[in-house]
Amino acid sequence: MAGGWKGTASECDYLTKLSNRGGLFRFYESMETASVNHYMFLDLDNFKSVNDIYGHSTGDELLVLVSKELVSNAPANAFISRIGGDEFVIVLPGSMSREEVENTASSILHAVFHTGKRKNVITHISISIGIVIHQPCSCSLDEILNKCDTAMYRAKQSGKNQFVSYDIIEREFLEWRKVESEMRSAFKHKELCVYYQPRMNMVTSELVGAEALIRWEHPVDGLLDPEQFLPVFENTGFILEVDRYVFETVCRQKQIWSKTALSKLPVSVNLSRLHFYQDDFAQTLINMANKYGTVCNELILEISESAFVKDAHQIEKNLKKLKDAGFRISIDDFGAGYSSLNMLKNAFIDELKLDGSFLSLSGHGERGRIIIKNVLSMGKDLKLELIAEGVESQEQVLFLTGCGCELAQGHYYCKALPMIEFEVFAKERMRKQEHTITFSFCCDLKDDSGTYEGIYKGSELEYCQGIMEGKGAICFPGGPVNRNLVSFPGDVLRSESYTISLWVQPKHLEYWVSVLFMEFDNGFASLVPSAWEGTSVYRMKDEREVDGWYDTRCCSLQVGEWTYLTITYDARSEVCRYYQNGGLAGVLEHIPALRITKQFTLGGDRYQPSFCGRVCDLRICDCVRSEAEIAEFYKECIKHPGFGMANGQKMTEGFTLHPYY
Ligand code: C2E
Ligand code: CA
Ligand code: CA
Repeated sequence: MAGGWKGTASECDYLTKLSNRGGLFRFYESMETASVNHYMFLDLDNFKSVNDIYGHSTGDELLVLVSKELVSNAPANAFISRIGGDEFVIVLPGSMSREEVENTASSILHAVFHTGKRKNVITHISISIGIVIHQPCSCSLDEILNKCDTAMYRAKQSGKNQFVSYDIIEREFLEWRKVESEMRSAFKHKELCVYYQPRMNMVTSELVGAEALIRWEHPVDGLLDPEQFLPVFENTGFILEVDRYVFETVCRQKQIWSKTALSKLPVSVNLSRLHFYQDDFAQTLINMANKYGTVCNELILEISESAFVKDAHQIEKNLKKLKDAGFRISIDDFGAGYSSLNMLKNAFIDELKLDGSFLSLSGHGERGRIIIKNVLSMGKDLKLELIAEGVESQEQVLFLTGCGCELAQGHYYCKALPMIEFEVFAKERMRKQEHTITFSFCCDLKDDSGTYEGIYKGSELEYCQGIMEGKGAICFPGGPVNRNLVSFPGDVLRSESYTISLWVQPKHLEYWVSVLFMEFDNGFASLVPSAWEGTSVYRMKDEREVDGWYDTRCCSLQVGEWTYLTITYDARSEVCRYYQNGGLAGVLEHIPALRITKQFTLGGDRYQPSFCGRVCDLRICDCVRSEAEIAEFYKECIKHPGFGMANGQKMTEGFTLHPYY
C-alpha cells in the first residue's frame, strides 16, 4: 500500500485492517514536504440508521464490505484509512490527473451503492465524498481534512451519493467574499441599476407592463445577473436597501413617464421576504409612493411563493396593509416547488405568476399539460390575474392562450432591457390609439362616421331590423358569382393586424360561399360560414406560396341562427384566431401577413355564388383585441336592451334564434 508503506500494529484498524487515524497522520508525516497528493474524505450516508435498525454487527459487516470496495476501486498505490466510525480517507498520488481522481470517486460511488444489495446486507447504502485536489504536504493534514470535510458536507447537502470537489466551493467562497467587499461601494458608485422586462399580452402582442430587475454594471466583470450576487445580498440583509432603491427608482421613473404614453404602465417590483420582518416596511413603501405621486394601483409587488413557506403569517399581515393602500400583489415563482394551495385562500392576492420551470411541464406530455391547464383554470375561478414567466416559444404561447392565460414575460418577446432600450421597445409595442370603423347598416352603406361607403352590386338591396336596437341588417339574397354583394374601398382595413367582427344569419348554407372577402396585394382572405360538413373557416391565401392556404377552422353556422363572428390576425406573431359568439374556437399559427387591402367585400366574392342571409353590425378594428375584450363585447351585445329584436323576441345568454322567414 502507498509505495509499500507499512504501519505498526497500533496503526491498524481492527475491523477493516486498513490504516487507522494514527496511521494516516504518521503516513502523512513520512512524506516529503514537497510532495503533492490528492485527498478523498468518504462518509457513509445514513450509517447511523443502519446501526439502529439492523444492529451493530450488520453495521460492522457493512464497513468491512465498503473497505474492500475502496481497496479494489482505488489504485494500488493509494493510501486508504478508516479514521472514525464510518469515515474513510484516501490519499491518492499527485501523479494522477483530476479526471482520474474523479473517475476513481465515481467508481467508488457505484461500487458502494451496489455492495449492500449484492451481499444482501441491506437494500441501499451510499457514500458521500469530498475531494481536495493537488495539496502539497507543506500544509497541515488537519487543514487538508477540514477542506475535505467541507466538500463532503456539500455533497451530503446536495442530496448525498455524490462527490464534490473543494475547489468549486473555494471559488464560491472567493466570489462570495468579493461580492461582499464590493457591494456597498457599488451602491455608492451607482453600479447597481434597474432593467425592465416587458410584460406582454400574448393574444395581441402588446406591451401591458414591465418587471423591474436589478443588475450590477461591474466596472471590471461587466454586467452581472442577480444570481451572481443576490444570495450574498440576501444573506447579509443588504437586499433590504437594494429593494428600496429599486422601488424608489421605479416610482421616480413613473413620475418621469407621467406625461408620456407610458404614464399608466403597471410595473412589478420584487420584494425579498426579509422585508416582512421590518415593522415599518409597508409604511415605508406607501410613503415613498406618495413622495413621487405614484398611483399604488400601477405597482405590482412580487413576493416569491417560497417566502410563504416560512413566513406566511408575517407576510400576510404586511401584505394586507399594502393591499389596502392599493398596491397589487403577485405571487412570484408559482409552481416552482413550494406551492402551498393554502396561500391562495388569501383575498389580497391579485396575481399568480407561473414559474418558468412549471411551464416547462407543458413539454412533458399530456399529464404536464393537464396540470398547467387546471392550475390556470383554478386561478381564473379565483379571479386572479395569470401571467406566465420564462415563455420562450410560440408553442408555449399557443398552449397558454389556449388555456386562457393571456399575459406573459419571456425571451420569446424580450429580455430585460436598460431603461432607454425599454422605452424604444415600449413605443413600438404599446397599444396604439386604436380605431374601429363601424357599419350599422341603418338603411345605408356608410360607416357611422360617414367616412367610408360601400357600393352594392346588384338590384335587390334590402335592409331589415338588425339584431340590436339602433342596428340594421343587410339581407343578401344570394345569387351568381360576383353579384348581390357590397364592395367597400380597401382602406377600411388599414392595418396588417386587425380584428373584424360581424353578426351573421344564413338563410341557406352552401359550401365555400363567403360572407366576407378581402383582396390584398399578395393574396386574399375569406370568411366562409360553411366550408365543408360542419366546418366554417377563415381562409388566408398567400399568393407568394404555391400551397399558401391557411384555414383557421370553427364549426359551421346554423341556418336561421344569428352568430357573432370575430376574427383577429396578429401580423407580429403570425397568428389568426377565430371566435364564435365571443368564445375562441380556432387558432392557426405561422400565417405570413397579407399586405395592402385592395378591396373589402361583404356577401360574396368573385369565385363562388353569393351569400344568402343577413349581416349586421360590421366592425373593423386596426388592432388585435384580446380574448377577454372579445368575450366582453359579445356579452354587451346580448345584454343590449333591444337584443334579438330582429326576431320579435328578447333573448338572453345561451339563446337560440329562430329562422326569420
Ligand atoms: P424572477 O423574479 O423570477 O425574475 C424572472 C427572471 O427570469 C429574470 O432573471 C429574467 O431575466 C429571467 N427570464 C425572463 N424571461 C426568461 C426566459 O424566457 N427564459 C429564461 N431562462 N429566463 C427568463 P433575473 O433578472 O436574472 O432575476 C433572477 C431573480 O432575481 C428574479 O427572479 C428575482 O427573484 C430576483 N431579483 C431580480 N431583481 C430583484 C430585485 O430588485 N429585488 C429582489 N428582491 N429580487 C430580485
Ligand atoms: Ca419576479
Ligand atoms: Ca419568477
